[in-house]
Amino acid sequence: MRQLTCVGPGKLEWQDVPEPRLAGDGEALVRPLAVARCDIDRALIHGLIPQRGPFALGHECVGEIVEVGDAVRGLTPGARVVVSFQLSCGRCGSCAAGHTANCDAYPSLSDYGMQPLSGVEYGGMLSDRIRVPHAEAMLQPIAPGLDPVALASVSDNVLDGYRAVAPHLRAKPGSEVLIVSHGGVSIPLYAAQAALALGAAKVVYASDDAEQLALAERLGAQPLPTDFGSRPRRFPIVVDSGLRPEGLDFALRCTEPEGVCQSVSFYLAPVPLRLDRLYTLGVHFQIGRCHAAALLPEVVALIEAGRLRPDAVTTRVVEWEEAADAFPEPAIKLVVRRS
Ligand SMILES: [Zn+2]
Ligand SMILES: [Zn+2]
Repeated sequence: MRQLTCVGPGKLEWQDVPEPRLAGDGEALVRPLAVARCDIDRALIHGLIPQRGPFALGHECVGEIVEVGDAVRGLTPGARVVVSFQLSCGRCGSCAAGHTANCDAYPSLSDYGMQPLSGVEYGGMLSDRIRVPHAEAMLQPIAPGLDPVALASVSDNVLDGYRAVAPHLRAKPGSEVLIVSHGGVSIPLYAAQAALALGAAKVVYASDDAEQLALAERLGAQPLPTDFGSRPRRFPIVVDSGLRPEGLDFALRCTEPEGVCQSVSFYLAPVPLRLDRLYTLGVHFQIGRCHAAALLPEVVALIEAGRLRPDAVTTRVVEWEEAADAFPEPAIKLVVRRS
């Protein structure tokens, strides 16, 4: 089968690789139909995270089930599913607690399409088949009428945006939310959309990127152009998304006393933190990965109910054959579709 492979910094090519087969009776094979580019993918492609040889790309997709093992219940060939980008067993203590990003059965950062992070190649979704080792835990069926292109990013970035605000709005319903995007790409926009859908009184979107600000405004947020210097005011719920230390510092300074600053950022280098200030004001700083498999049912239910519209964040859609050229290029949200 063909698999889009990163063979060096900035270099993608379609390679012929062996087709995966079922290796257990709880597994499934899935044919990706629409694949979205995650916010981290360009960093992986361009070598910002050191590469360890060729690796398969793509970890956000809607696909069609091709084959299931004998023990799989509730999933049949032909069904359309969102695939969790993280590998998780659904049975261990961590999975039972909802912490599916840190499943006991896998090394840290075990995801599709991210071999540079985990060191293990699980395959990528820009291929003709992927093997899903825990079908019932990792696959979420979607209603047959839904467009795979619209839901392609639900595997990861849509969930990430949702979880950045959902638990905090549950704890403080109707709060105002500040999203700080300092290099975040699609995740902070999904967070803005989720906050509005979940009843935030207002969502303010702070960024120094004009395209981000314009899209945030179209989603219903109030744009706040900023260079992350002076603080506008404080908010009870703040989301930090990006890579710049001054962006994180701004997000923390904008968090009100006893408020929460939720970071969805994967800082790749040490970042200074004013713990004295967080201590004095009781600012609750939370950081960690989203738990994909645990979040999939509630997020897909919100989309099926028409309350979340992830396609409103998509800025570019290309055909499957164009993926090698399009994936390295900038765009807020790119989706590749199989014709
Ligand atoms: Zn991702
Ligand atoms: Zn597990």
